[in-house]
Amino acid sequence: MLAARLLMDQGIHVECVNFHTGFCIQSHTGALRNPEPGAKPPRHDALHAAQLLGIKLHMVDIAEDYVRIVTDPKHGYGSNLNPCLDCKIFMVRKAWQLKEELGLHFLFTGEVIGQRPMSQRRENLPHIEREAGVEGWLLRPLCALRLKATEPEKRGWVDRKQLQGFNGRGRRPQMALAQQLGLHDYPSPAGGCCFLTDENYSRKLQDLWHSRGERQYTMDDILLLKAGRHLRPAAHFKVIVGRDETENHFLSGFRQQRWLLQAQGIPGPVLLLEGTPNEEDLTLACRLTARFGQGKLAPTVTVRVEYQGQEVLRSVTPLPADAIPDSWYI
Ligand code: SF4
Repeated sequence: MLAARLLMDQGIHVECVNFHTGFCIQSHTGALRNPEPGAKPPRHDALHAAQLLGIKLHMVDIAEDYVRIVTDPKHGYGSNLNPCLDCKIFMVRKAWQLKEELGLHFLFTGEVIGQRPMSQRRENLPHIEREAGVEGWLLRPLCALRLKATEPEKRGWVDRKQLQGFNGRGRRPQMALAQQLGLHDYPSPAGGCCFLTDENYSRKLQDLWHSRGERQYTMDDILLLKAGRHLRPAAHFKVIVGRDETENHFLSGFRQQRWLLQAQGIPGPVLLLEGTPNEEDLTLACRLTARFGQGKLAPTVTVRVEYQGQEVLRSVTPLPADAIPDSWYI
């Protein structure tokens, strides 16, 4: 928002792009939580920002091409499964293509030197531009004064004196500038944008790859990693247990090609099972379903098991808490 305003205030026409990778925290997370009483309804920050600033926002789905960035990043991963350098180079390339299609003149980002450990390190900024093939054409208005002048500055399209020289992880100067520009309603500056930087999420993705023996995923796979408790009682199957009503609804939407289990007549979670379970595994999954519901102390619980449109009822004893080893939790 700040970078856009610094250019707009110079009379420059600005358009923005939001890329959907499948790992964006914004896409589903808001809809995946039971709302706190009195909480604001979830909103999409990029749309909201574009609306506030009066900017045209292009929303581009890059999820399909993005698979190879996540599964085989040339520059490796950050502290989790975040391939930030490859990701940034890929997005800059995509943004350049869009710029060409739209007949616009240069790219800008809201990056600040040193704000993020991988993609915003000073030595990586020129590298990103070079590898994306946009050297000299990517302006970073928030830290431009600490970088070499770009083509738009050299050509006099952008007045360098009106740009900033922010640096480092702190956000105070940005917040002061927001205040000065009258921008009060902005997303939390510390909030993450991407599940790939999340340790728990990355562990679940690693587990998925390990269980399949290959680094691949579908959109359903990565959406499911965002919801529920994940347990792997054996290498050949895992279960996902809804933690509240919203997650139960969400998980129910993924029953195709998976087993869906739910206790009958007693409140409790939806449990999804994926893999190649045998009869014994299905019984264990039923007992887990009973364990995580309100019938956990009942002598028996009836569990409905649904698979590919067929349903059966099984009467089981809930699994005792001490029969669930920590090692099952992914
Ligand atoms: S945090 Fe995620 S979206 Fe952002 S650069 Fe890294 S991999 Fe890409």
